[in-house]
Amino acid sequence: MPKATTASIKAQNLHAVTAHIYTHHGVTKQDLQQTLGLSLPTISQNLRALEQSGLIAKGQTLDSTGGRRARTYVFQPQTRCAIGVGTASNQVTLCAVDLKGNVIAEEHHDITFSANPKSIANIGQKISRFAASLEGKGSHVLGAAFAIKGLISEDGSEVIYGNIMNDTGLELTALEKATGLKCALIHDSMASASAELWFDKSIHDAICLYLGRRPGGAIIVDGSISLGPNRRNGTIEHMTLVPGGLPCYCGNKGCMDPYCSTEFLTGDDKDTGKQSLDTFFASVRAGDEKTGARFDSWLGYLAQTINNVRNVLACDIIIGGAVTQYLTAEDFARLKTKCDSLNTFQSDTYQIRKSICGQEQEIVGAALHYIDPYVSSICE
Ligand SMILES: [Zn+2]
Repeated sequence: MPKATTASIKAQNLHAVTAHIYTHHGVTKQDLQQTLGLSLPTISQNLRALEQSGLIAKGQTLDSTGGRRARTYVFQPQTRCAIGVGTASNQVTLCAVDLKGNVIAEEHHDITFSANPKSIANIGQKISRFAASLEGKGSHVLGAAFAIKGLISEDGSEVIYGNIMNDTGLELTALEKATGLKCALIHDSMASASAELWFDKSIHDAICLYLGRRPGGAIIVDGSISLGPNRRNGTIEHMTLVPGGLPCYCGNKGCMDPYCSTEFLTGDDKDTGKQSLDTFFASVRAGDEKTGARFDSWLGYLAQTINNVRNVLACDIIIGGAVTQYLTAEDFARLKTKCDSLNTFQSDTYQIRKSICGQEQEIVGAALHYIDPYVSSICE
C-alpha cells in the first residue's frame, strides 16, 4: 500500500468534507466532526477553502438550546455547470445542467443542425452566447456536450454515422472552434442511459429502449454503460424484426426502427412529434378501433424486440423517450403479457419499467459527461 503523504491526507479530508456537504443539506461543523472524525481546526480550514472556491456557502443558523447557534453550510451546485446540446432536424435545444444534475437554464433555437460549416458557425455562436450569460451569473461552464443522433468514432472525435441529421463527418474540433468551449460528442442513447444511471443509482443491469421518432438503445452492465469496442453496443434499432419488411433510414429493410418508432403510430414522417402523438393517443383512449389496432400492433413489435434482446442479455427493460409520457401502467401490463407469451422461459421474472428521467433526458445526460467526473473529482 502506498504511504499516505501530508498532501494526500489533506486532499482526502477536503474531499470527505465536500462529499458530506454535497450529499446532505445544511451541515454544521459539529455534524462534520461527528461524522468524519476530523478536528475542528481541520474542518474550519477546509470550509474556508471550499467557500473561496464557491462550492459551498454559509447557510442558516440553527436554533440552539444553549451556547452559540450553529452555522450551517450548503453546497452551491450552480457554481459550475455544463451545457447539453440536443439536436432535432429544425431545432437545437441548449440546457445548462448544474452539479446536482438540475437544469438551471434552457434555450430553444429554430436552426438546422448538420455538419455544414455555416450550420456549425451558427450553433457555435448561440452556444457561446449562452455560455457567456451563464458565466455572467456566476456559473462556470465546464464544457458543452452534444447528444448526437448517430454513431461516434472510437476516439470520440467525429460523427461516423449520421444518416438521421446529415452530420456524418462532423468533427469535434470544429465545434470547439465555433463555441470556444471544451466539447464532446455523445451518442444520444448513451447520453440518455447516463441520465438513467445518474438519477437511479440502484440500476445494475438493464437494457434501455428509447422510443421516439428514431428509436435507440443502450446496455447497462454492472452499473455502467457498456459501449463496446466500437461504441456500437445497444444499436437495437437496426436489429431485423421483419425480414424484407419496411425500409429503414439505414438502407436495410425490416429493422426495429420503422416498426417501433412514433412514426409507425402517427404515420407522420416529419419531426412534429408531440402534436401528432397527442392526437394519436387521444384517439386510442377514446376507443377508436383503427388507432387502437395500430397501437396494439406497435406493442407487439416492441414485445418482439424485448424478447429478442432478452435472449442475449436477460435483465430488466427500461423504456424512455418521447412516447413514454403517453404510456399508462395498463399499457406496460399489456406489453409484459405480450412479452411473456413470446418468452421461451416461463419462470423468467423481470421488470419492464418507465424511465424516471424527464423529457430532455438525452440533453441532460450529455451534460453529465462533464458533471459526473467533476463531482467525482471533488468528492472522491
Ligand atoms: Zn436500420
